[in-house]
Amino acid sequence: MTNIILLGPPGAGKGTQARILVEQRGMVQLSTGDMLRAAQSSGTEMGKKVTEVMAAGKLVTDEIVIGLIEEKLAEGGTGFIFDGFPRTLPQADALGALLDKRGDKLDSVIEMKVDPEALVDRITGRFTCGQCGEVYHDRTKPTHNAGACDVCGSTDLRRRADDNEESLRKRLFEYYQKTSPLIGYYYAKGTLRGVDGMAEPEAVSAQIAKILGPA
Ligand code: AMP
Repeated sequence: MTNIILLGPPGAGKGTQARILVEQRGMVQLSTGDMLRAAQSSGTEMGKKVTEVMAAGKLVTDEIVIGLIEEKLAEGGTGFIFDGFPRTLPQADALGALLDKRGDKLDSVIEMKVDPEALVDRITGRFTCGQCGEVYHDRTKPTHNAGACDVCGSTDLRRRADDNEESLRKRLFEYYQKTSPLIGYYYAKGTLRGVDGMAEPEAVSAQIAKILGPA
């Protein structure tokens, strides 16, 4: 099955599209952000170590996130969606080597192109269901019943600690400084594809489906 990277700044819609791909194609989402947040809530040493860095909107070390991905890949499977990883050139090299070692490869790197000015609004309005992961937005996608998830009915709706304007500015800075060079890196490798991340989620998903081909 196909292995892809969803590449784009915070708020580009990577998580939303990954959820759609999991549902429609049975792909496996590997989100280093989710893994790090899980480590934080289960109170592991590593979780404690990354808390401040994440709240400040900075990147955690390559060593930590490469280790997390290595562990997941060792569990086997294929059809991976790398969401929020890689974020630096050393991470990109490490991913290539890890896939190589398994006799696997990266099929497409999908760049979700968005207008940076739209990101503050997207990020500061977003919240998710802590139970099923459905993503909402105060203005563009509120829940039908205030305080409860439309999909599973849970009232465990959460906002991320780093989804505030100050952290977002730092996250954007990190993205344009350290992650955006990956666009050129994958272009040169011939795997880069672009989609219009400003379109509605369904339209973005249709563009991605066209790149990936029949499910
Ligand atoms: P995300 O959920 O992808 O927005 O990630 C949230 C935060 O987790 C980021 O702002 C970083 O602090 C950290 N993080 C997630 N993935 C990575 C990565 N691949 N490299 C470094 N830091 C990461």
